[in-house]
Amino acid sequence: MSASKTGQLQRLDRAHHLHPFTDFKSLGEEGSRIIERAEGAYIIDSEGNRILDGMAGLWCVNLGYGREELVAAATEQMHQLPYYNNFFKTTHPPAVQLAEKLVSLAPEHMNRVFFTGSGSEANDTVLRMVRRYWALKGKPEKQWVIGRENGYHGSTVAGMSLGGMAPMHEQGGPCVPGITHVRQPYWFGEGRPAGQDPNDFGIECAAALEAKIRELGEENVAAFIAEPVQGAGGAIIPPQSYWPAVKAVLDKYDILLVVDEVICGFGRLGEWFGSVHYDLTPDLMPIAKGLSSGYLPIGGVLVGDRVADTLIEEGGEFFHGFTYSGHPACAAVALRNLELMEAEGVVERVRDDLGPYLAQRWGELGDHPLVGEARSLGLVGALELVDPETGERFDKALGAGNLCRDHSFASGLVMRSVGDTMIISPPLVISHEEIDELVDKARAALDATQ
Ligand code: PLP
Repeated sequence: MSASKTGQLQRLDRAHHLHPFTDFKSLGEEGSRIIERAEGAYIIDSEGNRILDGMAGLWCVNLGYGREELVAAATEQMHQLPYYNNFFKTTHPPAVQLAEKLVSLAPEHMNRVFFTGSGSEANDTVLRMVRRYWALKGKPEKQWVIGRENGYHGSTVAGMSLGGMAPMHEQGGPCVPGITHVRQPYWFGEGRPAGQDPNDFGIECAAALEAKIRELGEENVAAFIAEPVQGAGGAIIPPQSYWPAVKAVLDKYDILLVVDEVICGFGRLGEWFGSVHYDLTPDLMPIAKGLSSGYLPIGGVLVGDRVADTLIEEGGEFFHGFTYSGHPACAAVALRNLELMEAEGVVERVRDDLGPYLAQRWGELGDHPLVGEARSLGLVGALELVDPETGERFDKALGAGNLCRDHSFASGLVMRSVGDTMIISPPLVISHEEIDELVDKARAALDATQ
């Protein structure tokens, strides 16, 4: 694209386009970088720069860019039936076939799926479903849903209320009532409590959940919602002790478990679902992103038999759904995406090869003076930036993370910053050589940040 065309687009962007999660003034004179096309694990900007996409878009382009099979699936379906809905007593082949495929991949007790257009809509659906479930069970007082501080479940009113991002709660009016949050299992972020073993810390976080349940009254608590590994909060991998202890608490008080698989689902942690990695038995699993590798928007909720049977047998009509629930073109692309992932052994490769390789190479960055911790699981990773003098976290106002992100982008790698935590979540089809490039560029960005 010519320089003048780029400049024109940047001017129009500044004039008319409100970007998500962006300080509008920060676009400044320079304007946005315009991403024009992409292939494999790379995005290419309007100036022809090839940038390794260490974030797979927004944690979603699991199969990588440029897969003709997905384009063909969308095209064929658009010719055949571009739109029809699944309301009342109609459906169409892609929705049914995708539902069946998802159930075949999900844990055994999950046999039904409710489609949505996004992860946020999936979590809106979750909130209504869990409260409806308990009402049908004759326990309408079971209303409270417990999430976690710094958890992320989307940006709609229900999504942001379930999430525990304080800056989101502060904007745009009150949160949905009946939702509260407990301590996150973020050992590094909670200051590496002096001398404490991370596993003891994990147990402490589960104990905080139990204390909250008792404070609210177990008879009033409907569900606990959490990501297996917190994504947007900072690629936070909980201590090994955490999930077994949480499971025990929820079983003790008969509280539904909602595992948000929007990021961790579809191979990110080296299993089809994060719940499989952590041996969880969720009642509900919101899904999106990697479901279609981001080629078209689609989400959903996988529903366990306990909840589904009650909704179906005792519920009558559930007054809930979206125009684009199970959209045919999106469903056709998602189905093809899952078929390709299966046929190519993508998930197994993350578990057995790419995940361990990334852990080894990414872990080497732990020796950099600016890095207090380098962690990864499957193909998600984080670096915690610290002051080399003290080994403690920087003063937030310095913006070290943003600086590192900008250096990284300039050197040809997309790395995200959450405060001073640098994050990666590359396409699941990344090669060893591309992982080497990613690590080299991350190191160069750290050097430039010093
Ligand atoms: N849940 C999790 C764990 C997410 O990371 C996200 C998005 O990043 C969402 C839900 C919301 O998904 P969407 O942006 O598709 O609404």
